[in-house]
Amino acid sequence: MKYDAIIIGGGHNGLVTAAYLAKAGKKVLVLERREVLGGCCVTEEVWPGFKVSTAAYVNSLLRPEIIKDLELKKHGFEMLPRSPSSFSPFPDGRYLMMGPDKEMTHREISKFSKKDAENLPKYEAMLERVASIIEPLLDQTPPDPWGGLLSRDTTRLIQLAMKVRSLGPAGAEAAEVLTGAAWPILDRWFESEQLKVTLATDAVIGVQASPTMPGTAYVLFHHVMGECNGVRGVWGYVRGGMGGISNAIAAAAQQAGAEIRTRSEVSKILTKEGKVTGVALSDGTEFQAPVVASGVDCHLTFKKFLDPKILPEDFQAAIDQIDYSSATLKINVALEELPNFTALPGTGPGPQHRGTVHICPSFDYLEQAYDDAKYGRPSKSPILECTMASAVDDTLTPAGKHLMSMFIQYAPYKLREGTWDDIKEQFADRCFDILNEYAPNFKKSVIARQIITPLDLERTYGLTGGNIFQGAMSLHKMFFLRPAAGYANYRTPIKGLYLCGAAAHPGGGSWGPVDEMPPEKFSRIKSAKDFSPPPWQRVSTRIAILCSN
Ligand SMILES: Cc1cc2nc3c(=O)[nH]c(=O)nc-3n(C[C@H](O)[C@H](O)[C@H](O)COP(=O)(O)OP(=O)(O)OC[C@H]3O[C@@H](n4cnc5c(N)ncnc54)[C@H](O)[C@@H]3O)c2cc1C
Repeated sequence: MKYDAIIIGGGHNGLVTAAYLAKAGKKVLVLERREVLGGCCVTEEVWPGFKVSTAAYVNSLLRPEIIKDLELKKHGFEMLPRSPSSFSPFPDGRYLMMGPDKEMTHREISKFSKKDAENLPKYEAMLERVASIIEPLLDQTPPDPWGGLLSRDTTRLIQLAMKVRSLGPAGAEAAEVLTGAAWPILDRWFESEQLKVTLATDAVIGVQASPTMPGTAYVLFHHVMGECNGVRGVWGYVRGGMGGISNAIAAAAQQAGAEIRTRSEVSKILTKEGKVTGVALSDGTEFQAPVVASGVDCHLTFKKFLDPKILPEDFQAAIDQIDYSSATLKINVALEELPNFTALPGTGPGPQHRGTVHICPSFDYLEQAYDDAKYGRPSKSPILECTMASAVDDTLTPAGKHLMSMFIQYAPYKLREGTWDDIKEQFADRCFDILNEYAPNFKKSVIARQIITPLDLERTYGLTGGNIFQGAMSLHKMFFLRPAAGYANYRTPIKGLYLCGAAAHPGGGSWGPVDEMPPEKFSRIKSAKDFSPPPWQRVSTRIAILCSN
């Protein structure tokens, strides 16, 4: 069967790509290995009546342009803002609640340090300054510093340099945020350990690193970007679960004519004389197309689906440089009732249940949790980030029941002893014991649990090494270096083969960036004349996000 373009993987980025291409009048086929669409951005009914966001659980990064262009609200997409956004209970019975209400946040931080309460808005303004430079880049194809001198890349690089210049002395702050470690920055701005550890947990989300390690400041920064219903820096739940994003995008794609097939595992990308010709499924079925956009990671795309030998050696070396280490484990829990925190009692949905509950009482706790992972052991006392979307969204559970998502670190993919299949129940029990110390009704309120180990992230979601971002977002694999120098424009050494998932710029997260694509690039898929507005065609950057992204 022949198509204009085939998309490998029905993650939200692949779906964005499909939707834009179908809107451009292309005959598009999406092939998804699982029985459900959405990849990591998915809702699954794990237990009857419980709609679980099994992987990703909060959103702020999905680009507003995509919501608008694809009319996602018409297709059922709805954001539910969270306020407060975080609740950190501490062993001494105190707690810290934050955001987005500025007065409440000021009051709360003042309980620990008046100076920190005054400093937080200044710290946020600093991040805003950096964001004003970085955020626009997320929607663009990264310029290629190794491109021609008179190219559009050079113009973009000059524009970028001018913006950095406009920061003046604040440029050094920006450089630290983009390349440095999170803890020294937090330590300079704030004195209260309670505030610092609450902020620091966002710096290690999805990475096997401690906040004292270079590169973690960017992860922290990554988590302050985005928006919810037009309000900057606010994370929210998606009504009905994260699948509400993917399902709305899929509906838009299908409305525009895209064909979507689930239970269709791609095993091979077909090529002839350095050009892509289609894909083959593991059952042997073949589909032809002059354009294939891969929404899976580089390991699968270039080392499993292709014979790496057909790729230039320097490109292979760059792909081998990608770090797939991970230390994330997720437990989804069905609950009879919400946790009754000793620090702020109550089981009716209260402010302590609406945002992310951070269990990470001190800097030493955080570092020791990482120390274990360093030696291939799951943390003895892991960091827990718990969210209960059902406290805000009553469509997720049977009446009166609740759901908790526990995002846990560190759980290294590579264990020095044993396997995750052997130790996962014991590790989950440990996590439950820890939460129970803060909310003594927790364990007896559990109806069921689903443990997703790093190995399951690989087996079920196709994430090599269990890395939640399709490859670490380290400095040497960001922006014009993601996934490889000279190939950050979503193209690959194989003509007609593009990357459209988190493996490409801007990386992991529910982004779905879009970019403007020149017609000559788009002409690879024949004519773009039905796509407006000319001359720059709006298509998802991953041809064409991750190309959603
Ligand atoms: C546990 C976890 C929690 C996260 N939490 C958040 C969060 O709260 N907020 C946030 O913004 N981001 C979060 N992320 C990151 C974010 O979800 C991902 O970066 C993003 O969803 C990636 O989207 P994608 O479309 O690029 O790729 P994916 O979602 O990885 O989609 C790839 C798709 O390809 C399919 N596939 C794999 N192999 C094949 C094959 N051989 N043939 C056909 N199809 C195949 C997969 O089944 C999948 O559907 C989280 C990720 C994880 C794993």
